[in-house]
Formats: sequence, C-alpha cells, structure tokens
Amino acid sequence: MMAQYLALKAEAPDCLLFYRMGDFFELFFEDARLAAATLDIALTARGEHDGAPIPMCGVPVHSHEAYLARLIKGGHRVAIAEQTESPEQARKRGGKALVSRAIVRIVTPGTLTEEVLLDARAANWLVAVAQAGGALGLAAADISTGRFEIASLGATTLDAELARLGPAEVVVPENFDLATDHALTIAGGFDSNAAERRLKSLFNVATLDGWGAFSRAELCAAGGLLAYLERAGQGALPFLQPPVRRAAADHMMIDAATRESLEIVCATNGSRKGSLLDAIDRTVTGGGARLLGGDLAAPLTDRATIDERLDLVGFLHDDGDLRARLRATLRALPDIGRALGRLAAGRGSPRDLGQLRDGLDQGYRLHEMLSVAPRPALLTRLLPAFLGHGELVDRLQRALVPAPPIDTAQGGYIAEGYDAALDALRARGGEGRRAIAALEARYRASTGISQLKIRHNNVLGFHVEVPAKVADPLMRADSGFTHRQTLAGVVRFNAPELHDHASEVGQAGSHALAAEAAHLEELTALTLGHAREIAVTADALARLDVAAGLAERAAEGGWCRPALVDHPCLEVTEGRHPVVENAVALSGGRFVANDCRLGQHDRLWLVTGPNMGGKSTFLRQNAAILILAQAGSFVPAATATLGLCDRLFSRVGASDNLARGRSTFMVEMVETAAILAQATERSFVILDEVGRGTSTYDGLAIAWAVVEAVHDINKCRCLFATHYHELTRLAERLDALSLHHVRAREWKGELVLLHEVASGPADRSYGLAVARLAGLSPAVVARAKDVLKRLEAGRAATGGLAAGLDDLPLFAAAAAVEEARSDPLREAVAGIDADALTPREALDLLYRLKALLADGGS
Ligand code: ATP
Repeated sequence: MMAQYLALKAEAPDCLLFYRMGDFFELFFEDARLAAATLDIALTARGEHDGAPIPMCGVPVHSHEAYLARLIKGGHRVAIAEQTESPEQARKRGGKALVSRAIVRIVTPGTLTEEVLLDARAANWLVAVAQAGGALGLAAADISTGRFEIASLGATTLDAELARLGPAEVVVPENFDLATDHALTIAGGFDSNAAERRLKSLFNVATLDGWGAFSRAELCAAGGLLAYLERAGQGALPFLQPPVRRAAADHMMIDAATRESLEIVCATNGSRKGSLLDAIDRTVTGGGARLLGGDLAAPLTDRATIDERLDLVGFLHDDGDLRARLRATLRALPDIGRALGRLAAGRGSPRDLGQLRDGLDQGYRLHEMLSVAPRPALLTRLLPAFLGHGELVDRLQRALVPAPPIDTAQGGYIAEGYDAALDALRARGGEGRRAIAALEARYRASTGISQLKIRHNNVLGFHVEVPAKVADPLMRADSGFTHRQTLAGVVRFNAPELHDHASEVGQAGSHALAAEAAHLEELTALTLGHAREIAVTADALARLDVAAGLAERAAEGGWCRPALVDHPCLEVTEGRHPVVENAVALSGGRFVANDCRLGQHDRLWLVTGPNMGGKSTFLRQNAAILILAQAGSFVPAATATLGLCDRLFSRVGASDNLARGRSTFMVEMVETAAILAQATERSFVILDEVGRGTSTYDGLAIAWAVVEAVHDINKCRCLFATHYHELTRLAERLDALSLHHVRAREWKGELVLLHEVASGPADRSYGLAVARLAGLSPAVVARAKDVLKRLEAGRAATGGLAAGLDDLPLFAAAAAVEEARSDPLREAVAGIDADALTPREALDLLYRLKALLADGGS
C-alpha cells in the first residue's frame, strides 16, 4: 500500500495527498503533519517506513469538504486519490490484490466548484498570464459558472487587471519575469499553437476569428489556463462559455492602488463590508451579486452600453410594482449558474438538477412578467434567454421528486411514474417491507414475546431482536431462529422466512438504486447538452437582478439617473458618499450633500479646510459617483452630468495611508509619478494630501509641482485636497484651478465642522482646534499655540509666500521658534515655581542658572 501511496504522491508532489481508505481520506508523512496542524486534528501513526513510524491523520469522506476548505484557505493544494475499483473487484483479481487508486482531481483555490468552498456572492477567478512577442496576454475562467475571458495587457496594467478580477489563483509559465503584487503559481502548457487547436475544438469552430484575431500572448495564456484546468480535473475539462474578449479600452482603467483607496469591492481590511459594493448591493441572487461585483470593478467606457443599462435600471426604478414582483421571483430562484458548474465538473447531485429545473421554470415565468410594452432595449434582448428550456424542464419535472437530495446513497430522487420498471422494483421492496412487518406480528404471537422487534442495521441487515432476559427459548436449536449477536441488553437472531423477505427487499433496493443512478447519469448528460443555453439564461437572470437591485437602491436613497456626455466635465449637485452616509446615519448624524462642478475652464479644484472637515469624503464621493454611473447605476446625487472617464486615479498622501499600515513616502511618489505619466484629458484624478509624507517644505514643493503638472500637462479633471495653504497662491496663475474649502466654525471656543464645501480658500487652519477636539492635553495645545504664533510672526515679517518657492518664509520662522526654544536659561527660569521653593532649593537654583549662563557663553 505504501508503494502505491508513494507512487501517487510522486504524481502530485506540490499537493497534499488525500488517500481514500474506506470511509476516510488519509494523509501520511509530512502531509499528515501539515494537515493535522492546519486542521487541528489528531496526528497518529501507522506501520513503519525506513524503520520509523509513519505519521498519519485522516478526515471522514462524508465531511471532507469542510476540511478541504480550510486547507485551501490555508494556502495548500490538495490531490484527491479515490479508489477506482471496489474491494470485491480487487479480490477477483487475486487473493490479496490492493484496491487500485488514482488521483481524480487536484483542488486549488482557482479550480473550486463546491458550494461550501465558495462565496456565493463573489466570482472565483483562475487567471493565467503569459508573455509572447513582446506582448502580455491574460486568460481568466470562473469554472464555478463557466465564465471565460481573454485580454491583452500592457506591462503596466497587469496589476490593474489582476486587481479588477481579484483572482483566487494566478498561474504563469516558468520564464515569466514581470513583477506583480500577486502570488504566482508556476505551471506548464503555455503553448499558443496547442491552445488554438484546443479552443477550436472546445467551441467547435473552424476559426477563432469570430473573437477578432487573438495575439500570440493571449493564446499562450489561454493554453496555460486550459492545461491547468485539465490537470486539476485530471483530463476532464470543466464547462466553459465561449470566451469574452476584453479590450483595455472597454472599461475604465483603475489601478490597484486606486481600487484599494476607493474601497470599491472590498474595504481596506479586505472584507466586503464597508466597501462601495456593499453599500449599493441590493441583489437577491448569488449570480446577481457576482455580476454586480464584476460591473463595479469594471465600469464601462462606451456610452451606448452604459445608457442601455441605465435605461433598464430607470425602467425598474419607475415601476415599483413590477420591481417588487420581479425581485420576489428572483429571490426564490436557485443559483443555476453554480448548479450547472457543479454538474459540468462531474460533482453534480440530484439537487443540482432540481435547481436547474426550478430556475429555468421560474425564468420562463419571468418572460411572461416582463413582456410588457414599451420596454427598454436591453430587456428585449434578455427576454429570449428565458425561453427554449421547455423540453428539458418538462423532462426534469417528470423525472425528479420535488426536492431531490444532494446525497444519492439512499436513492429516492427519481419520481414515481417516470420509469415503470423502477416503480415495480420499489413496489417489490415495499411489499417485502410490509411482509416483514407482518412477520413481526406473527413472531410475537408464536413466541409469546411481546417485546420482540424486527430491526435493520448495516451490519446484520434485517434481524429479530428480543430483550436478553426472555431470549432463552429462541436460543434452542428447534426454535426456528438462528443466534447472531448478544449485546448488553438484547439478543439478535435470524430466521429463514425473514431472510427470504430481507433478501427480496435488499435486491429490489439495490436494483432500484442502480436504476436511479442510471437515470441520474442520463439526465445529467441531457442537461449538459444544453449547458451553453443554460449559462445564457443564468447570465440574463443575473443582469435582471443587478438592474432591479440598483433600481431598488436608487429608490431607497433618492438617487438620480446620471447624464453621460462626451466632453470632460463632472457636474454633481447634492452629491453624497454612500458608505460615509451609512456610517454617519448609523451614529445618528446627517450627511451633508455637496456640489461639485468641474468643466473645461475649471477642471482642478484645490480643497482646503480643517482635518476631519470632510475633504477626503468629498473627493471620494465624486470618484464613486463616476464609477457607479459608468457601471450603469443611478448615483447618490440630486443631478449629475458626467463626462465619460477613461482612467480613474486616487492617491492618498503617505501619512494618511500609514494608518492603514501600507504606504511609505516612496510608494506615494511612485504612484503619483504613475498618474502624471498616465492621466489624459478624459481622466479623473483625486489627490488627497499628496506630499504629506515628507518634511513640510519638501512636501509643499512636491504638491506645488504636482498641481502645476496636472493643470498644465495632464489637463485632467482633478480634485486636490491639501493642508498647504500656501498652494492657494497657485490660483492666481493657473486659469483652470479654483479654490474651495470645507467649512468650519469656532463657536464658544469649540470647533464645529460643517462638512460643507464652499468656494474660496479656508480662512484659517483649524489644526489646533481639531487637536483639542481629539483630546490633546491643554498644556500641549497651549504650547503649540505659542509655536504657531511665532511661526506666523515670522511669516508676516518676510511678507508671506512669494509667487515662487525661492524664499519660503517658514524656514526663518521655524528657526526663530527653534532659537527661542533652545535658550536653556530662559527655559529654566520659565520653569521655576517660586512659591514652591525652599530657601535651600532657591540657592541651588541660583548656582545652576549661573552655570547655564557660563555654558551659553562658551
Ligand atoms: P483629514 O484631513 O484629517 O484627512 P478630511 O477633511 O479628509 O480629514 P474626512 O476623512 O473626509 O475628513 O471626514 C472625516 C469624517 O467627517 C468622516 O468620517 C465623517 O464622519 C464626517 N463627514 C465627512 N464628510 C461629511 C459630510 N458631507 N456630512 C457629514 N459628515 C461628514
């Protein structure tokens, strides 16, 4: 057995090997140690290998998925070795022949289909990336639903694209040398010629031109992806829809740092909660939730397509009654996309067929519900997807019981009346069971033992059971009963007549099970014959759910339909940030809506104002509004006219980001450089406190230069929040820059943050007031005030900031403060509490002061 184990292990050296032994998957050697530690299960030993005991641990087959989930989450890969023949078959081969086993599947994070291992509301992407001919190609598949994408990338957009997909696993060929933040799995099979052949045969086409000409790199990536999937399925390829070819320009480019900073589909802590997606998601199906996540991660750039989505949302927004009925129907819908994925992966169950039957049937009803006129174009395009499954649904309805089980072991999932032979087998089994019940009554009468029972278990099958104290008469040789087992309180027997009925029941049962299994196989094959059409229906249902969910959200929050235009502008009245608005409402506050008006002649807003005043929120809400709009959603505002955006950038100054434990000044500068290099006139950029991660003057100088560059060179729409009041001087020189501030007031010595954006620069900074608000001690605040006064005096003396950066007055003022601060004699005298001194201490102090004077002179 160990030889067989080691041979299998050698086939998958990078995986933990689950070795099937009866009702358990066993792990041995190092695998056992790792798994026992990760799963917190007992590590035992079995036999010996090279003179040492073999470490071993195991998980029960019936509950192995939960353990698998933990191992996969723990970063392991698992190879599953199943028994490929029964012990009886092995015995037939020879007295002591070992049951043969083979690896049937390799489980990795990107190749999962099991319900318990997946998040129902998130896609599970496996991505392959390859370089060829100086280009970069990417292929991605979510085999839990069959989605398949192929794209070309620029080297700088790899991380952006990976961030869009949020893949569970990324595979690359051995020679791959591009740096990325993602963990990579090295794999083989990145062969473009083979890939071309595979794709053609997979989708049964003579040429791939229908998708446009794939680049070598794209084909290589597709080849790597298919090879990896094939290995995971040990030769069986899961269901894949025809690939969707993505061009970079099809969607708004959003790099990884921007995604993170805007918390689009997941919050900074990695969870979905607190993200923009979470704040807008009102979908009621898993498929809808997955599609919404994908939409939000990839806002579109084609106005017609966006408007088509918006038309559908608008239609459902306006008809609350239809929306409610639609959502109620959708809510009851099973996840047919994932059910199909499981069936196609060979891990389907009768329940999955039942789900498809119900989902497709409900879809048909939706067709009727939504066939109203007039209706938006997108709806008209979706409607046919709900038809055409009649025959399959009909068959499944006849074949399956209303709620088929996941487990096939007990049978009972094929409906009565579907197969006369099966019904006859069941009738025979039923008769046998009735006869056994009658037998029980007869045995009680003939033996006079009223406690006699006929029972069934897996070891003995049907047997007679009586309490031990009355068992003696049955023990006699002429009693007609054969002793089988004596337990603490009971004794068990067999009897010829019972045996006959029992074998009748058993035979009928096992024949019925086999008949059901054959039907299951046939029904599965029949269903998979319609896999593509079912996937189209699943996608259409998801699209409807997304639109209805967005309409619901818009109605709930009083959102408006954005108007998308071609010229670069961003005109929002009464805009809000959905996440902050939720948070503010939870703490009993009211969110203050703000306008933003960027246009060709006023495209850069410099926003100043106190900390905590709402600058970041204002910046982000406008970015969020743009993302939502281009993803096809209504937006949290009273009105919004938005110029289509090609690239979106968000950068947060290092000091802000440090709190999240991520950025350094260096990273901040690298990211800022990327913006300056990539932003176009159609881009939208938000810069929050850029330059704060270094010394005041360096930071100010950098911020100054960045504003100038964004204004003069990139000419993109930009909101720039800063603490450097000095920057407001730029308004005098830069035409398209205007000044704005978040309002605050000091009232009775207390700071009141109004969260209101107004035009003009902030009248003053409120840093000290905020510091006091935050609970800094009065002594420290008083000292800070003192320092501030001196700094400001210094600034006044040199006439404030000149038009250039040549003579920053802060240097002089700071030096003056430092000087004042570093006079030890002054400090010592200031620190004397004269009333508290004893005469002796006063004399000592005098000596010390004189000594200080002497030091200062030297
Ligand atoms: P800092 O300069 O310290 O980064 P900031 O000016 O960028 O601060 P924000 O982080 O945007 O301030 O906002 C701070 C808090 O103020 C938010 O967490 C929220 O609770 C509240 N807030 C912001 N904007 C609004 C608003 N428009 N209406 C109500 N409350 C708001």
